[in-house]
Amino acid sequence: MRDFSMHERAGWGALALPGRPLWMRVFALAYSGHHRNRHCGFEPGGLHRALSYVDTVTGEVYEFSRQAVHQAISTAVEYGYLDTKSNANCLVVPPFISGGNLGKPHAVCRRHGSDS
Ligand SMILES: [Zn+2]
Repeated sequence: MRDFSMHERAGWGALALPGRPLWMRVFALAYSGHHRNRHCGFEPGGLHRALSYVDTVTGEVYEFSRQAVHQAISTAVEYGYLDTKSNANCLVVPPFISGGNLGKPHAVCRRHGSDS
């Protein structure tokens, strides 16, 4: 029997807010939004928008570069928080993160296709 616990998506979503290292925000977003097939897809540019934030002093919107987001995904993969299939269009949580109430466990990912 597998030993497991459950987590609320909102808790992970709160950990994805600005003020933390970008790679942590990236995997927290994945954990808060993945479907039962372990994929957390984004519309084009959606991950960048989700990571952007408004500077409370200047009011300017800050967006991370594609390179910074790519590096953050790579770091999360390197540390084992995301699957190697992850990219800016779809973050894939590792096999030990599963379940939830969204989608079906063997659903084909629209962004990864049949290689889900
Ligand atoms: Zn996917």
